[in-house]
Amino acid sequence: MSDPIQLGLVGLGTIARNQHLPSLAEVPALRLAAIASRHAGHDTLPSYHDIDEMLAKSPDLQAISLCTPPQGRFAQAVAAITAGKHVMLEKPPGASVSEVEGLARLARAKGVTLFATWHSREAAAVEEARALLTSAAIRRVTITWKEDVRHWHPGQEWIWEPGGLGVFDPGINALSILTRILPEPVHPVAAHLEVPQNKQAPIAAKLDMQTASGAPVEAEFDWRQTGPQTWDIRVESDGPEVLLREGGAKLFVGGAERIAAEDREYRRLYVRFAELIAAGESDVDLAPLQLVADAFLLGAQSRVEAFHDDP
Ligand code: NAP
Repeated sequence: MSDPIQLGLVGLGTIARNQHLPSLAEVPALRLAAIASRHAGHDTLPSYHDIDEMLAKSPDLQAISLCTPPQGRFAQAVAAITAGKHVMLEKPPGASVSEVEGLARLARAKGVTLFATWHSREAAAVEEARALLTSAAIRRVTITWKEDVRHWHPGQEWIWEPGGLGVFDPGINALSILTRILPEPVHPVAAHLEVPQNKQAPIAAKLDMQTASGAPVEAEFDWRQTGPQTWDIRVESDGPEVLLREGGAKLFVGGAERIAAEDREYRRLYVRFAELIAAGESDVDLAPLQLVADAFLLGAQSRVEAFHDDP
Protein backbone atom coordinates (compact mmCIF):
# COMPACT_ATOMS: atom_id res chain seq x y z
CA MET A 1 0.00 0.00 0.00
CA SER A 2 1.29 3.49 -0.82
CA ASP A 3 2.09 6.04 1.87
CA PRO A 4 -0.91 7.96 3.21
CA ILE A 5 -1.58 11.39 1.72
CA GLN A 6 -0.45 14.12 4.16
CA LEU A 7 -3.42 16.39 4.83
CA GLY A 8 -3.75 19.82 6.46
CA LEU A 9 -7.10 20.94 7.87
CA VAL A 10 -8.17 24.60 8.00
CA GLY A 11 -10.83 25.94 10.40
CA LEU A 12 -11.04 23.91 13.62
CA GLY A 13 -14.69 24.67 14.40
CA THR A 14 -17.87 22.68 14.97
CA ILE A 15 -17.87 20.45 11.90
CA ALA A 16 -14.12 19.89 11.94
CA ARG A 17 -14.22 18.65 15.55
CA ASN A 18 -17.50 16.69 15.31
CA GLN A 19 -16.98 15.02 11.94
CA HIS A 20 -13.69 15.66 10.12
CA LEU A 21 -11.24 14.67 12.86
CA PRO A 22 -12.97 11.39 13.85
CA SER A 23 -13.64 10.47 10.21
CA LEU A 24 -10.06 11.13 9.10
CA ALA A 25 -8.86 8.80 11.85
CA GLU A 26 -10.79 5.99 10.11
CA VAL A 27 -9.41 6.52 6.59
CA PRO A 28 -5.95 4.95 6.18
CA ALA A 29 -5.37 6.58 2.77
CA LEU A 30 -5.10 10.01 4.43
CA ARG A 31 -3.07 11.19 7.39
CA LEU A 32 -3.98 14.38 9.24
CA ALA A 33 -0.62 16.13 9.59
CA ALA A 34 -1.34 19.80 10.48
CA ILE A 35 -4.05 22.24 11.52
CA ALA A 36 -4.57 25.92 10.71
CA SER A 37 -7.04 27.86 12.85
CA ARG A 38 -6.82 31.37 14.28
CA HIS A 39 -8.23 30.58 17.72
CA ALA A 40 -7.68 26.86 18.15
CA GLY A 41 -4.92 24.30 17.98
CA HIS A 42 -4.46 20.54 18.11
CA ASP A 43 -2.94 18.79 21.14
CA THR A 44 -0.35 16.81 19.20
CA LEU A 45 -0.17 18.09 15.61
CA PRO A 46 1.62 21.19 14.31
CA SER A 47 -0.93 24.03 14.54
CA TYR A 48 -0.71 27.29 12.62
CA HIS A 49 -2.60 30.58 12.67
CA ASP A 50 -3.78 30.40 9.07
CA ILE A 51 -3.34 28.57 5.79
CA ASP A 52 -0.52 30.81 4.56
CA GLU A 53 1.61 29.99 7.61
CA MET A 54 0.71 26.29 7.28
CA LEU A 55 1.70 26.18 3.60
CA ALA A 56 4.98 27.96 4.35
CA LYS A 57 5.97 25.86 7.39
CA SER A 58 4.58 22.42 6.42
CA PRO A 59 5.61 22.21 2.76
CA ASP A 60 5.20 18.40 2.68
CA LEU A 61 1.41 18.60 2.88
CA GLN A 62 -0.20 17.16 -0.24
CA ALA A 63 -3.86 17.94 0.42
CA ILE A 64 -5.89 20.58 2.25
CA SER A 65 -9.39 20.26 3.71
CA LEU A 66 -11.18 23.59 4.17
CA CYS A 67 -13.69 23.53 7.05
CA THR A 68 -14.05 27.30 7.36
CA PRO A 69 -17.27 29.22 6.55
CA PRO A 70 -17.96 29.78 2.83
CA GLN A 71 -17.07 33.46 2.98
CA GLY A 72 -13.29 33.67 2.75
CA ARG A 73 -12.82 30.12 1.57
CA PHE A 74 -12.02 31.23 -2.00
CA ALA A 75 -8.75 32.92 -0.98
CA GLN A 76 -7.75 29.88 1.10
CA ALA A 77 -8.48 27.53 -1.79
CA VAL A 78 -6.55 29.70 -4.25
CA ALA A 79 -3.54 29.68 -1.89
CA ALA A 80 -3.68 25.89 -1.56
CA ILE A 81 -4.20 25.14 -5.25
CA THR A 82 -1.51 27.61 -6.27
CA ALA A 83 0.85 25.80 -3.92
CA GLY A 84 0.05 22.56 -5.81
CA LYS A 85 -2.17 20.98 -3.11
CA HIS A 86 -5.31 18.91 -3.67
CA VAL A 87 -8.29 20.64 -2.05
CA MET A 88 -11.50 19.44 -0.42
CA LEU A 89 -14.22 22.04 0.21
CA GLU A 90 -16.92 21.83 2.89
CA LYS A 91 -20.43 22.56 1.64
CA PRO A 92 -21.45 25.02 0.30
CA PRO A 93 -18.29 25.08 -1.82
CA GLY A 94 -18.13 28.88 -1.85
CA ALA A 95 -19.98 32.12 -1.34
CA SER A 96 -20.87 32.40 -5.04
CA VAL A 97 -21.23 30.10 -8.04
CA SER A 98 -18.70 31.94 -10.17
CA GLU A 99 -15.92 31.86 -7.57
CA VAL A 100 -16.13 28.05 -7.41
CA GLU A 101 -16.09 27.85 -11.21
CA GLY A 102 -12.88 29.88 -11.00
CA LEU A 103 -11.43 27.41 -8.49
CA ALA A 104 -12.28 24.49 -10.77
CA ARG A 105 -10.47 26.20 -13.67
CA LEU A 106 -7.45 26.91 -11.47
CA ALA A 107 -7.33 23.32 -10.21
CA ARG A 108 -7.43 22.03 -13.80
CA ALA A 109 -4.62 24.38 -14.79
CA LYS A 110 -2.49 23.30 -11.81
CA GLY A 111 -3.26 19.58 -12.28
CA VAL A 112 -4.61 19.07 -8.76
CA THR A 113 -7.85 17.55 -7.44
CA LEU A 114 -10.68 19.81 -6.33
CA PHE A 115 -13.51 18.10 -4.46
CA ALA A 116 -16.61 20.15 -3.69
CA THR A 117 -18.27 17.93 -1.09
CA TRP A 118 -21.97 17.42 -0.42
CA HIS A 119 -22.00 15.37 2.78
CA SER A 120 -25.75 14.68 2.66
CA ARG A 121 -25.30 12.84 -0.65
CA GLU A 122 -23.29 10.29 1.37
CA ALA A 123 -26.21 9.56 3.71
CA ALA A 124 -27.01 5.85 3.80
CA ALA A 125 -30.21 5.80 1.73
CA VAL A 126 -29.46 8.35 -0.99
CA GLU A 127 -27.97 6.02 -3.61
CA GLU A 128 -30.80 3.50 -3.19
CA ALA A 129 -33.35 6.31 -3.67
CA ARG A 130 -31.50 7.38 -6.82
CA ALA A 131 -31.52 3.82 -8.17
CA LEU A 132 -35.27 3.49 -7.50
CA LEU A 133 -35.99 6.70 -9.41
CA THR A 134 -33.66 6.19 -12.39
CA SER A 135 -36.45 5.58 -14.86
CA ALA A 136 -39.43 6.91 -12.88
CA ALA A 137 -41.82 9.55 -14.22
CA ILE A 138 -41.75 12.14 -11.45
CA ARG A 139 -45.16 13.59 -10.47
CA ARG A 140 -44.41 15.68 -7.37
CA VAL A 141 -41.57 16.25 -4.90
CA THR A 142 -42.02 17.74 -1.44
CA ILE A 143 -39.07 18.82 0.70
CA THR A 144 -39.60 19.68 4.36
CA TRP A 145 -36.39 20.81 6.06
CA LYS A 146 -37.12 22.31 9.46
CA GLU A 147 -34.67 22.58 12.33
CA ASP A 148 -33.79 24.71 15.33
CA VAL A 149 -31.02 27.16 14.48
CA ARG A 150 -30.36 27.86 18.17
CA HIS A 151 -29.55 24.19 18.71
CA TRP A 152 -27.43 23.60 15.58
CA HIS A 153 -25.68 26.95 15.13
CA PRO A 154 -25.34 28.57 18.57
CA GLY A 155 -23.49 31.88 18.40
CA GLN A 156 -22.46 31.53 14.73
CA GLU A 157 -22.54 34.95 13.09
CA TRP A 158 -21.31 34.05 9.60
CA ILE A 159 -24.50 32.13 8.77
CA TRP A 160 -26.49 35.38 9.02
CA GLU A 161 -24.10 37.47 6.94
CA PRO A 162 -24.07 37.86 3.13
CA GLY A 163 -22.70 34.65 1.64
CA GLY A 164 -23.66 32.68 4.77
CA LEU A 165 -26.93 31.49 3.15
CA GLY A 166 -29.08 31.65 6.31
CA VAL A 167 -31.57 28.77 6.33
CA PHE A 168 -30.16 27.58 2.99
CA ASP A 169 -27.02 26.51 4.90
CA PRO A 170 -28.93 23.36 5.98
CA GLY A 171 -31.39 23.70 3.07
CA ILE A 172 -28.65 23.18 0.51
CA ASN A 173 -28.19 19.69 1.96
CA ALA A 174 -31.72 18.84 0.82
CA LEU A 175 -31.00 20.34 -2.59
CA SER A 176 -27.81 18.31 -2.86
CA ILE A 177 -29.85 15.11 -2.31
CA LEU A 178 -32.60 16.28 -4.66
CA THR A 179 -30.17 16.93 -7.50
CA ARG A 180 -28.60 13.51 -6.93
CA ILE A 181 -31.74 11.36 -6.81
CA LEU A 182 -33.99 12.89 -9.50
CA PRO A 183 -33.61 11.53 -13.02
CA GLU A 184 -34.01 15.00 -14.57
CA PRO A 185 -32.84 18.53 -13.72
CA VAL A 186 -34.92 21.03 -11.73
CA HIS A 187 -35.10 24.81 -11.82
CA PRO A 188 -36.72 27.32 -9.45
CA VAL A 189 -39.83 29.20 -10.61
CA ALA A 190 -40.58 31.23 -7.47
CA ALA A 191 -39.16 31.81 -4.01
CA HIS A 192 -40.11 33.62 -0.84
CA LEU A 193 -37.48 34.45 1.76
CA GLU A 194 -38.19 35.56 5.35
CA VAL A 195 -35.32 37.66 6.67
CA PRO A 196 -35.16 38.75 10.34
CA GLN A 197 -35.10 42.55 10.78
CA ASN A 198 -31.63 42.42 12.33
CA LYS A 199 -30.05 39.90 9.89
CA GLN A 200 -28.83 39.71 6.29
CA ALA A 201 -29.94 36.17 5.48
CA PRO A 202 -33.26 34.26 5.61
CA ILE A 203 -34.49 32.34 8.66
CA ALA A 204 -37.14 30.62 6.52
CA ALA A 205 -37.79 30.16 2.82
CA LYS A 206 -40.21 28.56 0.38
CA LEU A 207 -38.81 27.47 -2.95
CA ASP A 208 -41.07 26.36 -5.81
CA MET A 209 -39.22 24.43 -8.50
CA GLN A 210 -40.11 22.37 -11.54
CA THR A 211 -38.55 19.34 -13.12
CA ALA A 212 -37.57 19.65 -16.78
CA SER A 213 -40.79 17.84 -17.68
CA GLY A 214 -42.91 20.17 -15.54
CA ALA A 215 -43.55 18.25 -12.30
CA PRO A 216 -43.77 20.50 -9.21
CA VAL A 217 -40.99 20.38 -6.61
CA GLU A 218 -41.90 22.29 -3.45
CA ALA A 219 -39.41 22.98 -0.70
CA GLU A 220 -40.00 24.50 2.71
CA PHE A 221 -37.05 25.46 4.87
CA ASP A 222 -37.45 26.79 8.39
CA TRP A 223 -34.92 27.42 11.14
CA ARG A 224 -37.52 28.14 13.83
CA GLN A 225 -38.59 24.55 14.50
CA THR A 226 -38.21 23.50 18.11
CA GLY A 227 -39.04 19.96 19.27
CA PRO A 228 -38.77 17.17 16.69
CA GLN A 229 -36.61 18.15 13.72
CA THR A 230 -37.68 17.37 10.14
CA TRP A 231 -35.43 16.57 7.18
CA ASP A 232 -37.72 14.82 4.69
CA ILE A 233 -37.86 14.45 0.89
CA ARG A 234 -40.99 12.78 -0.55
CA VAL A 235 -41.02 11.77 -4.22
CA GLU A 236 -44.28 10.77 -5.92
CA SER A 237 -43.95 9.12 -9.32
CA ASP A 238 -45.47 6.39 -11.48
CA GLY A 239 -43.82 3.90 -9.07
CA PRO A 240 -44.13 3.49 -5.30
CA GLU A 241 -43.61 6.60 -3.16
CA VAL A 242 -39.97 7.17 -2.19
CA LEU A 243 -39.56 8.91 1.15
CA LEU A 244 -36.16 9.88 2.54
CA ARG A 245 -36.21 10.87 6.21
CA GLU A 246 -33.65 12.13 8.71
CA GLY A 247 -31.57 13.78 6.02
CA GLY A 248 -31.25 10.64 3.89
CA ALA A 249 -30.40 8.21 6.71
CA LYS A 250 -33.76 6.42 6.34
CA LEU A 251 -35.65 5.26 3.26
CA PHE A 252 -39.32 4.28 3.06
CA VAL A 253 -40.61 2.78 -0.20
CA GLY A 254 -44.39 2.63 -0.60
CA GLY A 255 -44.69 3.29 3.16
CA ALA A 256 -42.40 0.42 4.24
CA GLU A 257 -39.03 1.10 5.84
CA ARG A 258 -36.22 -0.24 3.64
CA ILE A 259 -33.04 1.39 4.98
CA ALA A 260 -32.09 2.81 8.37
CA ALA A 261 -28.35 3.12 8.87
CA GLU A 262 -25.82 4.93 10.99
CA ASP A 263 -24.07 8.09 9.81
CA ARG A 264 -20.89 7.45 7.78
CA GLU A 265 -21.11 10.57 5.61
CA TYR A 266 -17.73 12.16 6.36
CA ARG A 267 -15.81 8.91 6.31
CA ARG A 268 -17.19 8.31 2.82
CA LEU A 269 -16.25 11.84 1.75
CA TYR A 270 -12.62 11.31 2.75
CA VAL A 271 -12.45 7.89 1.08
CA ARG A 272 -13.76 9.55 -2.09
CA PHE A 273 -11.26 12.42 -1.78
CA ALA A 274 -8.40 9.92 -1.65
CA GLU A 275 -9.84 8.05 -4.66
CA LEU A 276 -10.14 11.27 -6.67
CA ILE A 277 -6.53 12.18 -5.87
CA ALA A 278 -5.34 8.70 -6.89
CA ALA A 279 -7.29 8.94 -10.16
CA GLY A 280 -6.12 12.50 -10.89
CA GLU A 281 -9.75 13.70 -11.06
CA SER A 282 -11.92 16.48 -9.63
CA ASP A 283 -15.57 16.47 -8.58
CA VAL A 284 -17.23 19.89 -8.60
CA ASP A 285 -21.02 19.73 -8.99
CA LEU A 286 -22.48 23.20 -8.52
CA ALA A 287 -26.14 22.28 -9.09
CA PRO A 288 -27.20 22.68 -5.41
CA LEU A 289 -25.41 26.04 -5.06
CA GLN A 290 -26.93 27.22 -8.34
CA LEU A 291 -30.45 26.46 -7.03
CA VAL A 292 -29.76 28.53 -3.90
CA ALA A 293 -28.32 31.36 -5.98
CA ASP A 294 -31.46 31.25 -8.15
CA ALA A 295 -33.64 31.36 -5.03
CA PHE A 296 -31.91 34.60 -4.02
CA LEU A 297 -32.30 35.93 -7.62
CA LEU A 298 -36.02 35.12 -7.80
CA GLY A 299 -36.94 35.48 -4.16
CA ALA A 300 -39.53 37.91 -2.88
CA GLN A 301 -38.44 38.98 0.60
CA SER A 302 -40.35 39.73 3.79
CA ARG A 303 -38.81 41.21 6.89
CA VAL A 304 -39.78 39.19 9.97
CA GLU A 305 -39.22 39.42 13.73
CA ALA A 306 -35.62 40.08 14.79
CA PHE A 307 -33.64 36.96 15.74
CA HIS A 308 -31.58 36.69 18.93
CA ASP A 309 -29.58 33.67 20.11
CA ASP A 310 -31.16 34.04 23.56
CA PRO A 311 -34.93 34.18 23.00
P1 NAP B 1 -17.82 27.16 12.83
O1 NAP B 1 -18.19 26.34 14.01
O2 NAP B 1 -18.05 28.62 12.88
O3 NAP B 1 -16.30 26.82 12.52
C1 NAP B 1 -15.62 27.37 11.42
C2 NAP B 1 -14.22 27.66 11.85
O4 NAP B 1 -13.58 28.32 10.76
C3 NAP B 1 -14.14 28.60 13.04
O5 NAP B 1 -14.00 27.88 14.23
C4 NAP B 1 -12.95 29.47 12.73
O6 NAP B 1 -11.81 28.99 13.43
C5 NAP B 1 -12.68 29.33 11.25
N1 NAP B 1 -12.91 30.59 10.54
C6 NAP B 1 -12.10 31.12 9.59
N2 NAP B 1 -12.60 32.28 9.13
C7 NAP B 1 -13.75 32.49 9.78
C8 NAP B 1 -14.71 33.52 9.76
N3 NAP B 1 -14.57 34.58 8.94
N4 NAP B 1 -15.79 33.43 10.57
C9 NAP B 1 -15.94 32.37 11.40
N5 NAP B 1 -15.03 31.36 11.48
C10 NAP B 1 -13.96 31.41 10.68
O7 NAP B 1 -18.60 26.65 11.53
P2 NAP B 1 -19.01 25.15 11.19
O8 NAP B 1 -20.38 24.89 11.72
O9 NAP B 1 -17.94 24.22 11.55
O10 NAP B 1 -19.17 25.28 9.61
C11 NAP B 1 -18.07 25.37 8.73
C12 NAP B 1 -18.51 24.84 7.38
O11 NAP B 1 -18.96 23.49 7.54
C13 NAP B 1 -19.69 25.61 6.79
O12 NAP B 1 -19.56 25.72 5.40
C14 NAP B 1 -20.89 24.73 7.12
O13 NAP B 1 -21.96 24.87 6.19
C15 NAP B 1 -20.27 23.35 7.05
N6 NAP B 1 -21.01 22.34 7.82
C16 NAP B 1 -21.39 22.60 9.12
C17 NAP B 1 -22.13 21.66 9.80
C18 NAP B 1 -22.58 21.86 11.23
O14 NAP B 1 -23.46 21.11 11.69
N7 NAP B 1 -22.05 22.80 11.99
C19 NAP B 1 -22.51 20.47 9.17
C20 NAP B 1 -22.05 20.23 7.87
C21 NAP B 1 -21.32 21.17 7.21
P3 NAP B 1 -10.69 30.04 13.90
O15 NAP B 1 -11.42 31.23 14.44
O16 NAP B 1 -9.90 29.30 14.91
O17 NAP B 1 -9.91 30.39 12.63
